[in-house]
Amino acid sequence: TVQLGQARNPKVAAWLDGRKPSLLINNEWVPAQSGKTFDTVNPATEQVLAVAAEAAAADVDAAVKAAGAAFTEGPWSKMGPAQRARLLRAFAALIEENTDELAELESLDNGMTFATAQAFIGVAVESMYYFAGAAQQIFGQTSPSAPTNFNYVLREPIGVVGAIIPWNAPITAAVWKIAPILAAGNTMILKPAEQTPLTALRLGELAIEAGLPAGVLNILTGFGPGAGSAIAEHPQIDKITFTGSVQTGRTILRASTGNLKRVTLELGGKSPNIVFPDADMEGALANSLAGFATISGQVCVAGTRLFVQRDIKDEFVENLSAYAAGIKVGDPLDPETTMGPLASREQYERVTGYLDLGKSEGAVAASGGNAIDGKGYFVQPTIFDGVDNSMRIAQEEIFGPVVSVIPFTDEYDAVLQGNDTTYGLAAAVWTRDVSRAHQVARQIKAGTVWINTFLELDPTMPFGGYKESGLGREFGANWYQHYTEEKSVFLKL
Ligand code: NAD
Repeated sequence: TVQLGQARNPKVAAWLDGRKPSLLINNEWVPAQSGKTFDTVNPATEQVLAVAAEAAAADVDAAVKAAGAAFTEGPWSKMGPAQRARLLRAFAALIEENTDELAELESLDNGMTFATAQAFIGVAVESMYYFAGAAQQIFGQTSPSAPTNFNYVLREPIGVVGAIIPWNAPITAAVWKIAPILAAGNTMILKPAEQTPLTALRLGELAIEAGLPAGVLNILTGFGPGAGSAIAEHPQIDKITFTGSVQTGRTILRASTGNLKRVTLELGGKSPNIVFPDADMEGALANSLAGFATISGQVCVAGTRLFVQRDIKDEFVENLSAYAAGIKVGDPLDPETTMGPLASREQYERVTGYLDLGKSEGAVAASGGNAIDGKGYFVQPTIFDGVDNSMRIAQEEIFGPVVSVIPFTDEYDAVLQGNDTTYGLAAAVWTRDVSRAHQVARQIKAGTVWINTFLELDPTMPFGGYKESGLGREFGANWYQHYTEEKSVFLKL
């Protein structure tokens, strides 16, 4: 089942060869109770890369029991934040030490280039160190009580958290759940996406090596319906944090009503990237390219609606096409490659469908516009010109390397069109006019606005969506509000 020879690093090849399809429950690697498995495919070759265990409701139950016991009575329940911080630091250090192997595994399973995977793992490591420090910064409050009382507010972990993540940046997505959930003292069940189950499993091994007690981090590979839905519905899971599509976000929100789980949703986007004529054009061009081509455009904050002021639009498209021509699509493990395949056949069909749709809606491919023949889910980076913001290619999340260029007349028009979307995850504005930059930043309805930059994330800055892009925020100074409960304690003196 494992195609040796695909991995270049002998350690990665040996890992793939030696693995039995298994789930991590209570620090033990066990098969799914049904015995079922599924294949994960290398998107560059379309060949089976490995076989994973297919978790279902019974496995979720077992993981919930383990996580519940760890929370209420295991060593985890007796640890203070300083000890949790130590464990997270040890875990982060192991991820960093194993960057190259993890990056190769990520690249084989997801299709992102090796260099991109390394960079995203770097971000994950920094985030884990940040949350290790933040574990000791969760303060309660004393209240301004009457002289008869001493009243205070405790911040306590919520309990068992279910975390469901997508396939586009698997390691980073996993760490962005694991680190804050554990820093706040919860235990958890992580379900990676069925398209990319492997690096989460490797993270599970590293977690055990770092010394995480049994039951604290359980990892269940499997599908949405089956494993994911059982997590969303489970009455002993206290909170669910989900990153993925709006459609699944709605399903999870509905499923979580049974026991009124706390819910955080990080969903999709169709982010406006607005370029004014006074912008630093080189910065705007390079970042507009990265904004729609990073990880083959499979990025939730991708700047896929590129608004360019009408007078400079044609020249901008011409220059951006020249930049796009420099992208080398190919084998993601080849160091020359700058863009790998899409992550799955499903995604390839979705993106090529939108390439056809764009043309039939009347958009013109100034660059790219087609799939690339041969094995692997490769498509050309595509710049659609002549797009109107009401077209489906401008309104629906494609999640591929496809950008729609839309002209605007002035600041008012840019904001009006930029906000004309059901999404509100991110936005960017390119201008040297300080007042205009801040005015646009205020008026855009999005959880993140970048001024003269793109794709920057920082754990000290809240991350999440306005409108249908999500519910709640991750990171930022208030990050712990989403992973703790407040308890008011009244004491009569
Ligand atoms: P998806 O919603 O189909 O799948 C995401 C995860 O949800 C997978 O693990 C899947 O197995 C699980 N799932 C599917 N159906 C489920 C159900 N009924 N119950 C429980 N779990 C279920 O999303 P996708 O298409 O794989 O991922 C791409 C989407 O993720 C895009 O919309 C993208 O914008 C979004 N995304 C958002 C962020 C963010 O932080 N806002 C980051 C990355 C990706």
